Amino acid sequence: MTSGYEAVIGLEVHAQLLTESKAFCACPTTYGAQPNVNVCPICLGHPGALPVLNENLVRFAVTMGLATKCSIRTVSQFSRKNYFYADLPKGYQISQYQDPICYDGRVDIEIDGVGKSIGITRIHMEEDSGKSIHDLDVDTLVDLNRSGVALIEIVSEPDIRTGPEASAYLQQIRQTLVYLGICDGNLEEGSMRCDANISVRKTGAKEFGTKVEVKNLNSFRNVEKAIEFEIVRQIEVLEAGGTIIQETKMWDAGKQQTKTMRTKEMAHDYRYFPEPDLRNVVVNGEWLESIRASLPELGLAKKHRFIAAYALPAYDAQILVDDVALAAYYEATCASLSQQTPDAFKSVSNWIMTEVLRIMGDRKCTISEVGLSAAQLASLVDAVQSGAISNKIAKDIFPVLVGTVRMADEIVSERGLKQESDEGALQVMVDEVLKANPDNVAKYKSGKDNLFGFFVGQVLKASGGSANPSVVQALMKRALKN
Ligand SMILES: [Zn+2]
Repeated sequence: MTSGYEAVIGLEVHAQLLTESKAFCACPTTYGAQPNVNVCPICLGHPGALPVLNENLVRFAVTMGLATKCSIRTVSQFSRKNYFYADLPKGYQISQYQDPICYDGRVDIEIDGVGKSIGITRIHMEEDSGKSIHDLDVDTLVDLNRSGVALIEIVSEPDIRTGPEASAYLQQIRQTLVYLGICDGNLEEGSMRCDANISVRKTGAKEFGTKVEVKNLNSFRNVEKAIEFEIVRQIEVLEAGGTIIQETKMWDAGKQQTKTMRTKEMAHDYRYFPEPDLRNVVVNGEWLESIRASLPELGLAKKHRFIAAYALPAYDAQILVDDVALAAYYEATCASLSQQTPDAFKSVSNWIMTEVLRIMGDRKCTISEVGLSAAQLASLVDAVQSGAISNKIAKDIFPVLVGTVRMADEIVSERGLKQESDEGALQVMVDEVLKANPDNVAKYKSGKDNLFGFFVGQVLKASGGSANPSVVQALMKRALKN
């Protein structure tokens, strides 16, 4: 049904910055404080109160700009965006309009290994509004703690074509913000908010269709669903001979559909004009270069390095780099291994992706709260790699290590879990098993090959699980040939 059309999608992402104080006053930005506690005459918009620019707002905006390959404007200015709302006591929001601080960048995304570049039109600095609380069984309440909190708005080019692309782009933006340490990236708590502009046009057409804005998409899943819904809806309207109305909609996750909030105000309704109480923002070259020099390695680069340096599959690398602390933990574990082999590197990844992530999911905790140091995990992988214990025994030891400072080899010797790899001792067990099962030996020799597993199993059982399976297999193979 969507054939013959293509969607044109641009995303606007608001990111709440991790500055300690607000954008233009000294009020703290702590989340979850009592309502209307973190306020002062400046962020309450009292007449005559003058804003003072927070240097870290500029620093973080420039940091994000450099990380997304934007050009950085040497001189930019703040403007007033005028509108009336109960949670906006000044009657305007300080934002940037013409000449934003960052412009003309790009973000690289990957979907199933296929790369694509999404252009960044601009990144500008602004302050947040307060919060209206409607969902109580009383009149609407207003909390102004958020009023004046520092934000950047990241506006993409209309380069996105599908819901999954939008989701991948948003994830890349989120990961970059978190890697840079400038936003906690929490969509559910609203420290990142996403609006999507969506239109459709006949494939190959040059003109854009009429766009619809869908506001406040608060999860990657909702971004994808809302866009896919809106694409199908718009095509259906056009196919039925209708026209698309420019409007602002909301995603109703319960009903899985978009619903109209209002028909779109045009940008000039905000009556932007330069903010007279703030001077121009000047970014000098030396300061810019010091920020550039302090940029960390970002997610996609780290992913590619993990694939190259540790011979990891792209799938593993992606999961590890999604969490910057987990990626660091992975590298610390690999560095602690006594045998630095691709096998051991993959084994570390396996442990993290199964047991470690399971604990983090169950306890909803971070890697540093799991209670297993990189050296401890490395000691467990070492014990398996050296043949001292089997993977099965390692699985039993793993929970014993968690929450302690003990190493795997201590547990192995304390509990007598060392794997038996001595050929002489294992040969005795192999001989005994064959002697005790003459009928099955005869059947095997007459062609019942699948009995091989039975013989090996009998030896492992007789050893109480301590026999090294690969040594047993080799010995058994040789014994049955005779
Ligand atoms: Zn304040």
